[in-house]
Amino acid sequence: MVNAGYQLQKVVHGCMLKFAHRYFVLLREMNSFPSRIFEQAVNEFATLPGIGRRSAVRMVLHMLKQEGSDARRFGETILRLTQEIRFCKNCHNISDGDLCTICSDPRRDPALICVVEDVRDLLAVENTNQYHGLYHVLNGIISPMDGIGPSNLTIDALIERLNGGHVNEVIMALSATMEGDTTVFYIYKKISRLGSQALKLSSIARGVSIGDDLEYADEVTLGRSILNRTPYESTLVR
Ligand SMILES: [Zn+2]
Repeated sequence: MVNAGYQLQKVVHGCMLKFAHRYFVLLREMNSFPSRIFEQAVNEFATLPGIGRRSAVRMVLHMLKQEGSDARRFGETILRLTQEIRFCKNCHNISDGDLCTICSDPRRDPALICVVEDVRDLLAVENTNQYHGLYHVLNGIISPMDGIGPSNLTIDALIERLNGGHVNEVIMALSATMEGDTTVFYIYKKISRLGSQALKLSSIARGVSIGDDLEYADEVTLGRSILNRTPYESTLVR
């Protein structure tokens, strides 16, 4: 029995040594490339969010296999993206011109503004096909820990838009975090100072996700779901 335990310990130890050896070989391989241009390309790809060095190597090897015209088009698109893309002067969404495609669409309701943290969130709301108003992109949320204050965001531009008096409702679609709640409260205070009785400020509903079992929902989420309950008829698909 003692002998079996000793054997097992030896096997585990051997496996660990093998794993460590392979890891260091891999690290060495990844840090010494046969070409400086290749290495430079790997370094650039590795700066992208969520891309590690191994993935970067795979991407560069893939690019090497491409036709010259494909690689050129890829490079030119990245260049155009950084040099030509603009931000909508109305809502700060990404745009090719002064106004984005949403702000210049006459079918959108200009009396409704949905406030989002960034363009990713705007796209997420757009993908629901449930919203037909305009947006306002804050370019972040108030986060003192990260040194982001109200002046770093587009809050003043939002208040200026609301000052025009053509907006009936502002929908806050920010993350359900302390930073998100702080930002909503800050904007709420600013809007209150406008003194407009006609302007309504609402927040997206927070609660139990569709398909979730109640017993797995945390107390805060379930509590909010009870407080923000909705009339049954409004949940029916129309
Ligand atoms: Zn716009």
